[in-house]
Amino acid sequence: MTARVLVVDDILSNVKLLEAKLTAEYFEVVTAFNGVEALAKVEECDPDIILLDVMMPGMDGFEVARRIKGNPKTAHVPVVMVTALDQPSDRVAGLDAGADDFLTKPVDDAALFARVRSLVRLKMMTDELRMRETTGQSMGLIDPAQTLIDNAPAGRILIIEDRPESVQWFMSALTPANEVAAADSFEEALVRVRGGDFDLIVVSLGLRGFDGLRLCSQLRSLPEGRNVPILVLVSDGDKRKLNQALEMGVNDYLTRPVDKNELIARVRTQLRKKNYQDRLRHNVQLSLEMAITDQLTGLHNRRYMARHLDNLILSAQKSGKPLAFLIMDIDHFKSVNDTHGHDIGDEVLREFANRISANIRGIDLACRYGGEEFVVVMPDTDIDFACTIAERLRHSVETTPFEISRAPNTLNVTISIGIASAQSEGDNAESLLHRADQALYRAKREGRNRVIKAAA
Ligand code: GH3
Ligand code: MG
Ligand code: MG
Repeated sequence: MTARVLVVDDILSNVKLLEAKLTAEYFEVVTAFNGVEALAKVEECDPDIILLDVMMPGMDGFEVARRIKGNPKTAHVPVVMVTALDQPSDRVAGLDAGADDFLTKPVDDAALFARVRSLVRLKMMTDELRMRETTGQSMGLIDPAQTLIDNAPAGRILIIEDRPESVQWFMSALTPANEVAAADSFEEALVRVRGGDFDLIVVSLGLRGFDGLRLCSQLRSLPEGRNVPILVLVSDGDKRKLNQALEMGVNDYLTRPVDKNELIARVRTQLRKKNYQDRLRHNVQLSLEMAITDQLTGLHNRRYMARHLDNLILSAQKSGKPLAFLIMDIDHFKSVNDTHGHDIGDEVLREFANRISANIRGIDLACRYGGEEFVVVMPDTDIDFACTIAERLRHSVETTPFEISRAPNTLNVTISIGIASAQSEGDNAESLLHRADQALYRAKREGRNRVIKAAA
């Protein structure tokens, strides 16, 4: 793994020492000798991680961390405080300032690389999401997710621990701020995670009945557990296990005996990150949806239909099931625009889309195909049944006037529909569409407000 590490320390020999260790492991190192320089370098060099000295003249490490985490452009960069301070209260102060982890001076190599690799790996996963989200933003589809600093959400937490007194202690430390559940066996843990919508899983690595690390790796492989942060509890001094856990991709750790404030601070950090990632993921999902959705009506757009129709035809042909295709066009729609205005035209299109949706099944695919043309693909539907549905829709459009927001408040609308059915061999999206279009054309020519079946 290569990554860019920003090393910040006011003492040259400290910087040189860390720089030498990291360079030997092929990390790229950038250095800064005070807080102000550090803040400039973070924006300028876009590091993957920051190793930050706490005691520095002028601006100290706490303040530097606070500013990095308070800046939406840099808040996602992990900060490890490198410090001679090693009391829980010091760690809590660091966590409150936004630090992701700590290394104690003199820095132990194994601990250094385990922390750096683990935090960089986690950051890269977020970077991937951030990048996709930025694409959605630049396409004008979504607003950016807020940074991870702005809130401290409550979460649903699962404690996996088989000592009842320890479970009790965690419960009382984390409630009522959070909703906490517990599991005391391997199987129960898996069942809980599969069924529950957790924001954080705390796994004790000192379980009597089973191997906590193996459990962590299983949780990571569950679809429901993949995106849930894991915080492990290790006994003080069990460095080997801790490094293994970090290597495996757990998000954070606490050493026993657990300090309550440190627990709360680390939990809060993980919940914040989870919340931020959820919002990123949600935005990415949203931009994917918007790319295939017609903005005016909320139906699928033509691009989506074009992509899927061939597949739907193929799968109908393979399974021997029928597939019906409807193309619908509003009659004399131009005169709606001309008489009442384009915005009223849009209202009619939206209402028509609603009526289509109300008349089809969940598996049917409805799309706005063009200006005032809509198509519906109906899998597993023969042409006669499709005609019945089309006729019902045509009738409801004709007999129930459309409400509009200006006088005369309602409009009489009619539609024409052409229907075709996929053939068992040699058919494709283009030919199916063509036949349906021909049927629609006939419906128009024969007087509109009617449903016409394509010749087979
Ligand atoms: P026909 O009965 O033969 O279908 O006549 P028509 O007037 O409906 O057909 P034509 O294709 O000539 O007109 C379609 C009109 O749809 C022209 C265009 O201005 C309008 N249109 C296309 N997209 C939109 C839209 O998004 N909103 C609105 N309000 N009108 C649109
Ligand atoms: Mg029309
Ligand atoms: Mg038209």
